[in-house]
Amino acid sequence: MNITESKLPNIGTTIFTTIGQLANAHNAVNLSQGFPNFEPDARLLELVDLAFKKGYNQYAPMQGVFALREIISEKIEQLYGRYYHPESEIIVTAGATQAIFTTISAFVHPGDEVVIIKPAYDSYEPAIELFGGKVVPVDLEGAAFEMNWAKFKSVIGPKTKMVVINTPHNPTGAIWSESDMLQLQEILKGSNILLLSDEVYEHIVFDEKKHESAAKYADLASRSIICSSFGKTFHVTGWKMGYCVAPKSLMQEFQKVHQFNVFSVNHAIQIALSEYLKHPEHYLSLGNFYQQKRDYFLNAIKGSRFRIAPTAGTYFQLLEYSDITEEKDMDFAKRLILEHKLASIPISVFCGANYDQKFLRFCFAKTENILDQAAGILNSI
Ligand code: PMP
Ligand code: GLN
Repeated sequence: MNITESKLPNIGTTIFTTIGQLANAHNAVNLSQGFPNFEPDARLLELVDLAFKKGYNQYAPMQGVFALREIISEKIEQLYGRYYHPESEIIVTAGATQAIFTTISAFVHPGDEVVIIKPAYDSYEPAIELFGGKVVPVDLEGAAFEMNWAKFKSVIGPKTKMVVINTPHNPTGAIWSESDMLQLQEILKGSNILLLSDEVYEHIVFDEKKHESAAKYADLASRSIICSSFGKTFHVTGWKMGYCVAPKSLMQEFQKVHQFNVFSVNHAIQIALSEYLKHPEHYLSLGNFYQQKRDYFLNAIKGSRFRIAPTAGTYFQLLEYSDITEEKDMDFAKRLILEHKLASIPISVFCGANYDQKFLRFCFAKTENILDQAAGILNSI
């Protein structure tokens, strides 16, 4: 056997790295990878600084600092009306990425089918394949990326081990309604199918709408591992801090892998977050904060030739460009960087082979001067 025989022969480098490098090389305005270009709250930085100086510099408890798990439990109960025991049903992770990867590795056996909704965030599929699972994609339909529940139901069968959902949705910015969640609940009812619910953008929802967490629905919650990210919520994507919650029997299995995967994550930051989370306004104000950015950006490009349907959640805006060019999204995204010095994400990388729509994804978690620069370029195309 070849010593470099790949376990993921079809996987190259993630789009966020390839486009990010191209953007840097060409000094482009970067609205590609999702991260804020502004500083987090000074108070949070102070708390982290304090925690380091107070000596929280050795291993944290394996499941996470207890005070942090307690405050996460309170937050979820307050927002979604479900109690997760801090002792046995909450684990602090190295970002949502680890929570997702650990969940898939803990539950997916070779031959198991895992249903994902496409476009899908790019970390799900390789993780499923790495553990021998079979990816069963269901495509969202049309220019509004709508869910076809009949189609979803038709792929659920005896081999289905897990379903992965993501609301608010990256990259489309769509959010699922109560009716979506109820339909999902109805289809899974009576089965042994697990739900991996990626809710990293739970606090970034616009226009008075509400995030529908799987935690709100009793039957869904009983089969769900829910993943969240402090990176998105507190403008600290580089810290790679997140958590996941699940009923005890599921969390026991998650923990078996987590303890050998990372054992525990940054101690001082957990201490700081447990203090910072005592003030719900820090996350409850996030929707308004990003809605203003969305509206600022959309207002600045309203005269452009891109077609715009305002995003409902996340810090991503899709722009449709069929009035501008026939190019495939990857080609157009690259040309935008090379010729116009503006970087975006082509969403075909999150889609199936048949995908042929003309959308690019722009991250508006940026200061107004950057949004102005991007708008100037978009208006000139
Ligand atoms: N899921 C989705 C849908 C995301 O957009 C991201 C952000 N990169 C993640 C998971 C990973 O989150 P984290 O940065 O906390 O690992
Ligand atoms: N979630 C971020 C995005 O969609 C990127 C995270 C990453 O680079 N892996 O842009």
